[in-house]
Amino acid sequence: MKCNICGNIASIKLDYANLRLCNLHFVNYFKRRIKRTIEKYKLINPGDKILIAVSGGKDSLTLLNILSELREDINFYLEGITIDLGIEEYSNKYIKIVKENYEKFKVEYKIISLKDELGFTISEIIKSMKRRRPCSICGAIKRYMLNKLAYEWGFNKLATGHNLDDLLYILLRSYIRGDYKQALKLYPLLPGNDRLVTRIRPLAEIPESDIILYSRIKGINFLKEKCPYSKGSKGFTYRKLLDMLEQESPSSKLSMLRSFYNIYKPALESYYLKRPIKLKYCKSCGMPTSNEICSVCKIIARVQRR
Ligand code: SF4
Ligand code: ZN
Ligand code: ZN
Repeated sequence: MKCNICGNIASIKLDYANLRLCNLHFVNYFKRRIKRTIEKYKLINPGDKILIAVSGGKDSLTLLNILSELREDINFYLEGITIDLGIEEYSNKYIKIVKENYEKFKVEYKIISLKDELGFTISEIIKSMKRRRPCSICGAIKRYMLNKLAYEWGFNKLATGHNLDDLLYILLRSYIRGDYKQALKLYPLLPGNDRLVTRIRPLAEIPESDIILYSRIKGINFLKEKCPYSKGSKGFTYRKLLDMLEQESPSSKLSMLRSFYNIYKPALESYYLKRPIKLKYCKSCGMPTSNEICSVCKIIARVQRR
């Protein structure tokens, strides 16, 4: 098997692109595709102040590496944020790894303790709310904290490491639940307004398998251990289904996302978003919400009562 670019021995086979590549040309190809996503969806402009959410997993650390290399070319400011969720040993491990990577890629960063910010750790919140799915509570709290801090610190963009498989998983889940509002948020760029900071997802068109390859080739040390609360999550089954589909018919993952963007998303928007959604501000914390009190303030009030 020879590299399609240089003719040397190829170590990587990308069926979806019908390419065989050596490590060097795979790395170039990978970076070029992310740059293309950034340009195509106008994710980054010169002068932007970007806060990147880094969890210690392969996706956010790969994005940290790529954005740290692009910041001089495009001329934007980059800073990292990691939330110490207080999930016992697991949190200690990812905090150690993110610190190493921030130093390695020379990116300024802040580690924020959820206990200091909200008064409770994720473990304490999950234990006192037994009947709800841990990841939906944790996900809502993380999104809230990241937006709140990015806004308060004066960043105009918040970057996250969501990849192609993550977005398709959310798309399938929202389809099954009939949750069109969730589906409409699936785009590489989610424009903000007022206290809602614009969110960008530069890895939106990159399959997870390519991120694993890239992080291995580049020697990015990421946390392989799973969060103790991820057990029982449906995510694994959805992802397996998507992988089977891709194996049978290479490039179906990317086609699925692009068809959604080009055909189904505009149709859903024209049907459901005839009038723009009016955002309110939470009466308790002042952050944007569609209700009187935001979901995170409700969660915290419930935990305090117990
Ligand atoms: Fe939070 Fe679930 Fe992720 Fe654990 S797996 S960090 S509980 S979202
Ligand atoms: Zn090559
Ligand atoms: Zn609130």
